[in-house]
Amino acid sequence: MRTVIYPGSFDPLTNGHLDVIQRAAKLFDRVVVAVAKNEGKHPLFTLKERLTLVKQAVRHVPGAEADSFDGLLIEYVVDRKAQAIVRGLRAISDFEFEFQLALMNRKLNENIETIFMMPKDTYTFLSSRIVKEIARLGGDVSAFVPAHVQVALAKKFPGAGKS
Ligand code: ADP
Repeated sequence: MRTVIYPGSFDPLTNGHLDVIQRAAKLFDRVVVAVAKNEGKHPLFTLKERLTLVKQAVRHVPGAEADSFDGLLIEYVVDRKAQAIVRGLRAISDFEFEFQLALMNRKLNENIETIFMMPKDTYTFLSSRIVKEIARLGGDVSAFVPAHVQVALAKKFPGAGKS
């Protein structure tokens, strides 16, 4: 059983994240999408909300499941008996941080590999931060997130677009 962990804030999950999950599911028997508590980042959605949105999104992806974690990622990876971590790479701008993170995780446990997946080109400009900004300003995010995430965003910004 080959298991990969896909960690992130998922605040909220976007079609870019989903694209990475679908690609990873082709390579591994099990993909655990692990929502990080990340309170320090002051997320828009609570951990429970982010987890629920991810759960709903992965329902139709064979081999994918959702979970949450707090604390050291590498310990969570070992606990879940996973062999690897997957992260998404959109552009060179992601590279430096991701490279640092991957090497640090290797220092902490050299048995765990980090792999990177590139999303479909149309998703390379997508980030949770941009999606939240568009939603906050009342813009249409339907091309960027699954329908249930769009509904959740509309609930967070009920007055968006109406001035
Ligand atoms: P974090 O706060 O840990 O960076 P994110 O939820 O923002 O969490 O991202 C989780 C992972 O998904 C990261 O590796 C990030 O680079 C990747 N990612 C985010 N958006 C996209 C996208 N549009 N396409 C591909 N990968 C993405």
